[in-house]
Amino acid sequence: MSTVPLWREIQRQNFTKVRDLAHFLQLSESQIQELDETPAFVLNVPQRLAKKMQKGTLDDPLFKQFVPLKKERLEAPGYLLDPVADMQAKRQAKLLHKYEGRALVITTSACAMHCRYCFRKNFPYETKTQTFEKELEILENDTTIQEVLLSGGDPLSLSDLSLEALLTSLSRIRHVKRVRFHTRFIMGIPERITDGFLALLQDYPKQIWFVIHANAACEFDADIWQALKKIQKLGIPVLCQSVLLKGVNDHPDALVELSSVLIDHGITPYYLHQLDPVQGSQHFEVSENEGLKIIAEAQKNLPGYGVPKYVREDAGEPSKTILG
Ligand code: SF4
Repeated sequence: MSTVPLWREIQRQNFTKVRDLAHFLQLSESQIQELDETPAFVLNVPQRLAKKMQKGTLDDPLFKQFVPLKKERLEAPGYLLDPVADMQAKRQAKLLHKYEGRALVITTSACAMHCRYCFRKNFPYETKTQTFEKELEILENDTTIQEVLLSGGDPLSLSDLSLEALLTSLSRIRHVKRVRFHTRFIMGIPERITDGFLALLQDYPKQIWFVIHANAACEFDADIWQALKKIQKLGIPVLCQSVLLKGVNDHPDALVELSSVLIDHGITPYYLHQLDPVQGSQHFEVSENEGLKIIAEAQKNLPGYGVPKYVREDAGEPSKTILG
């Protein structure tokens, strides 16, 4: 009998070849010519997401987020390999420390999907070791750290066993009061929310926060809401962060729709990020002026708690910069 969890089996069926996905989406040869078939940051799209993409067009909010275009090879002034200076914040191969009281563990290099605008797509992930001894030692010895963020990559790419080991070690560090998951996994493979994972969360002695990443209402479906509800039922707050992306959500109606479905499901819209200028992502850029207008318009149609904070990350600053 196979011991591979269902979600891993599903992940193995991800589209990883541009031409396969292009044929699935019934793109014409001239449309395929616009795609990058050999991108450095490889294609990785779960079937669930591909099925939600409109066929026969490049002009679909999901397609734009996940399918590499030749445009990504262009360079532009101000667009960098490490736009948020992660390398300066590195305290250990898998530990970043940018903000007072919080530190971030790079749990893995793997994600359920590859977002074309990812600011960490050039990060030199350390993949030789699977454990976090040195990182945990630093956390243990730094009593200023009260919150640990589990990021990556995507922390839900780890097995339940690896997550359990990491969570257990963190639970033993007295001054760490909160653990925050930053994950997008559920948006592609909600089957990841297994009973075993939920049991880990349920028994955890410290406060857990769950931050998902979604940019458009069309990313959600009934299975995803159900998976998120299981987490919420444990009393864990679920928030959502998004990135303002041209052709994806750069319209007040798109933001209102996204915030509305989130708050209808008890999820707080947390941040709307200005695009981090990572090399090859300039075609996603919406100017801050435009972003301010979009959010001001969206705000008219949302309750206060449904409006995310519009923010920018400025490398080296002690916090995110709130725009507007
Ligand atoms: S899921 Fe997050 S870490 Fe992974 S590619 Fe997308 S933005 Fe980057």
